[in-house]
Amino acid sequence: MSKMNPYEMFLKQVDEAAPFLKVEQEFIDILKEPKEVLEITIPLRLDDGTVKVVKGWRSHHNNALGPYKGGVRYHSNVCKEEVMALSAWMSIKCATAMLPYGGGKGGIRIAPRELSQGELERLSRGFALGISRFMGTDVDIPAPDVYTTPQIMSWFVDTYEKVKGWSEPSCYTGKPLELGGSLGRGDATARGGMYVLREALKDMGLLGKPLTATIQGYGNAGSFAHALYDQIGIKVVGASDSKGGTYNPKGLDYADLMKHKRASGTVSDYPGGEKVSTDQILEAPVDILIPAALEGVVNEANAAKVKAKIVLELANGPTTPEADVILHENGTLVIPDVLANSGGVTVSCFEWIQGRTGDFWSEKTVHEKLDERLTQAFGEIWKIKKEHNIRMRQATYVRAMGRIISGMRFRGIWP
Ligand code: GLU
Repeated sequence: MSKMNPYEMFLKQVDEAAPFLKVEQEFIDILKEPKEVLEITIPLRLDDGTVKVVKGWRSHHNNALGPYKGGVRYHSNVCKEEVMALSAWMSIKCATAMLPYGGGKGGIRIAPRELSQGELERLSRGFALGISRFMGTDVDIPAPDVYTTPQIMSWFVDTYEKVKGWSEPSCYTGKPLELGGSLGRGDATARGGMYVLREALKDMGLLGKPLTATIQGYGNAGSFAHALYDQIGIKVVGASDSKGGTYNPKGLDYADLMKHKRASGTVSDYPGGEKVSTDQILEAPVDILIPAALEGVVNEANAAKVKAKIVLELANGPTTPEADVILHENGTLVIPDVLANSGGVTVSCFEWIQGRTGDFWSEKTVHEKLDERLTQAFGEIWKIKKEHNIRMRQATYVRAMGRIISGMRFRGIWP
């Protein structure tokens, strides 16, 4: 694990990009602080009648380019610094995908799997109520993240609309279709990653060659990556989740592995593969490593052991700044989170637009618009990377920070 907390990781990433931007230091200083962070306490009535006191946060990092945007995470390790970092990464991500948004993020410190459905609903409504004065369609638009689902978004929207007394479907994204969700939102994170990876493979002369991958984190993004990536010639040979991993050099069957995961709650013990540890998944002899869960899994302790030639970050912050340098020196291309997983928030933006206009798009339209946007972003970043001979994360930050700072400069410093 890195010695840095996630927010310190963000600060380091900003510092590593800053020398390639000809901008006033004051703008860099502003970017280094979130604009405001709301901390709330939710008294959660448990099914046994007792009350558990739960902490939650919503961080607004920067809104020069538009309202704050970003998910809400439920996890037992959530803390203020993590939520702040995730909100800052959203500012960079939204600017990377050229969305009319700034960066926000929320989190609740809770182990959601220990809650009943009723407890989960009360907790979700408690959080939505707590942040209702801090958000809205043109203020801050939350969405799903780790362990939050379309059902949770439904409780959030319902609570918000009842507090306000009006209908406002685009105040949250990641909703079910029935409540104004968008086609193509479910697999958008993995799909956006696929488009970006395809562009990288093209440039590296690898597209069309048979390639292998492992996926660390078999949740929403990770499992959809397994489902989709054979379209670009990638065979998934290993996968892991919080309970362990499974590996089969001949390839893992998506439908069969999902059936096993649904039945047992984990991919480990899958009869179609050999039982392995998460470390073995990270260090496997494959072409592509896809971290798709939490921060800091590729770090200074294991980066030198990574054999993959490409790391596609579907998780937020999976590679520490130390590991980023080690991987680069070993010739591994790290496609950074703020680009690789930006498909999720991009289709959230499409959902926001559709909800505001009442004009809903076909799945084909969503896919085409997503592809076009991310292919353009990739091309511009790749150019900056080559021009300055820098890491891809640095190039992505140079472009995104440039956009945000330009927005701030037009606005001026006021008050
Ligand atoms: N939680 C996702 C992310 O980290 C999606 C955010 C959104 O759709 O607003 O990018």
